[in-house]
Amino acid sequence: MTPPAHGNPHGSDRSLGAAVHELVTAIEPISGYHRVALRAALGRILAEPLRTAVSVPAHDNSAVDGYALRHADAGHVPLQRVGTAAAGHPYTGTLGAGECVRIMTGAVVPAGADAVVMQERVSRDGDAITPEPWPPAGNNIRRAGEDLQAGDCILEAGRRLTAADLGVIASTGRAELNVKRPLRVAFFSTGDELRGVGEPLGPGEIHDSNRYSLYGMLTQLGVEVLDLGTIRDDPETLAGALRQGARDADAIVTSGGVSVGDTDHLPSLLGEHGELLFRSIAMKPGRPVTVGRFDSAWYFGLPGNPVSVMTTFSQLITPALRRLAGEAQRPARRMRVTTRSPLGKTPGRQDFQRGRLVEGPDGELEVVSVGHQGSGVLRSMSEADCFIVLPAERGPVEAGEIVEVEPFAAPLIA
Ligand code: AMP
Ligand code: MG
Repeated sequence: MTPPAHGNPHGSDRSLGAAVHELVTAIEPISGYHRVALRAALGRILAEPLRTAVSVPAHDNSAVDGYALRHADAGHVPLQRVGTAAAGHPYTGTLGAGECVRIMTGAVVPAGADAVVMQERVSRDGDAITPEPWPPAGNNIRRAGEDLQAGDCILEAGRRLTAADLGVIASTGRAELNVKRPLRVAFFSTGDELRGVGEPLGPGEIHDSNRYSLYGMLTQLGVEVLDLGTIRDDPETLAGALRQGARDADAIVTSGGVSVGDTDHLPSLLGEHGELLFRSIAMKPGRPVTVGRFDSAWYFGLPGNPVSVMTTFSQLITPALRRLAGEAQRPARRMRVTTRSPLGKTPGRQDFQRGRLVEGPDGELEVVSVGHQGSGVLRSMSEADCFIVLPAERGPVEAGEIVEVEPFAAPLIA
């Protein structure tokens, strides 16, 4: 681990893929967890593999409203209806030769029965029932354990629990489970030019937008946020904010002050008082990204440009924070579509342009550029619904070429 003293603007920057791999390998997930009621587990990370002690469904049951019968009785019609089985009210007898039972969806298949015929496929004369046509063996029977088998591991540790997962867990009867404690992430913006929302601007000043996009992305990642505000470009003050962040959180995310300008103090602060892992990635937007440790916390120093903040957060910080939180990694969901727009590109860095998916003439997806791709044009992120991911080595793209896109992640609903 011997990082360069200054960012290397040419040639030997890490690829994003190498940086993610390096980080995810270096980060040890937090160990804390607690027990919560099932509903409170929505959107939380499972701290242990979940096994089911029971099979779901527990019994063979009917998939339709109809009649349970013995397949061996084929040809011996009509059958005699001898009783009823409804969901929650099983038929307690055993079917004899020539007998059938009226059965409702979800009712346990009576002993002796091995097929169910839909009520729409019978002719009826009082209790005399004639299936037309005769059903195949096993017809309309949902087998015990066809959803979950007793003893199965149903969900792996590290999974962020979805609505479907809650339902699956409920189907096994489980009321409580262990989830990871929430990750705590401190964040602040840096820059003498920054003013808060609601404050008037002096000459050359701008409103601090990164604190809001970062707040949104961190919250949607399911972490607990600690907003340390807007910090001036002063080494002492910055060091104080880093110390506070490290004391109160598992990770610190900052924006601005990580490039090679005279007011970019964070990399040297980290080099002197912490541990610097790397400070530059061959991606666009977002080359200067400073990553390391400060006291007991992981430190992620993002560039100041608002689009760079969102892009590096999505591509690098998200997998890192997921790892730290104990969440299993997921592959980026990328797909190949035709671009309707030509795309400017110079070889050198992997590019994350902002695009919008649209429906093509044959109903297939295509992508259009949202236009101005400057790293300060935050509106491009707001208008986009995907990144257009262009490999480092490629040059300009013509309209009609196939490109890779990565739809923006759906926000967490929790
Ligand atoms: P820096 O990386 O600190 O040199 O900042 C790069 C650019 O991003 C400059 O134009 C800054 O004014 C701008 N910038 C930095 N921080 C923020 C912020 N929190 N909100 C909006 N723009 C910012
Ligand atoms: Mg700055």
